Amino acid sequence: MAVFLSAAFLQQCFAMHRLDLAVRQLKGSGIVVACRQCKIRHTVRLGRRAEEPEAPFGDEVPLFAEPLRACAATHLPAVGVHAVDVVRDALDLSCAQCRATYPFRIIECVTRSGSESQAR
Ligand SMILES: [Zn+2]
Ligand SMILES: [Zn+2]
Repeated sequence: MAVFLSAAFLQQCFAMHRLDLAVRQLKGSGIVVACRQCKIRHTVRLGRRAEEPEAPFGDEVPLFAEPLRACAATHLPAVGVHAVDVVRDALDLSCAQCRATYPFRIIECVTRSGSESQAR
């Protein structure tokens, strides 16, 4: 099983077959996205989109806002990757059910090939 440290693979999956990307998990400050087409999974560490300088006490606010955590808890299949831009290190999550979009910044993306069921 090979490990790649680049968001380019995620971008490629998103560009080629975005409907096969499934958000499997929200954990801490990252997400696990599985690609059904490539049988790989992308583990993405996320940060806040830095449109403005970080607030000094910004760390106290959880990365995943309450509405998004509720989405993941109650209807995770509706949560998907809405946009990926490796040039801007940007990743947007969206919820099809709530019609909401949540912008994030990609800090690190690890792609693992091999059976997606073995890494859990
Ligand atoms: Zn793929
Ligand atoms: Zn939702």
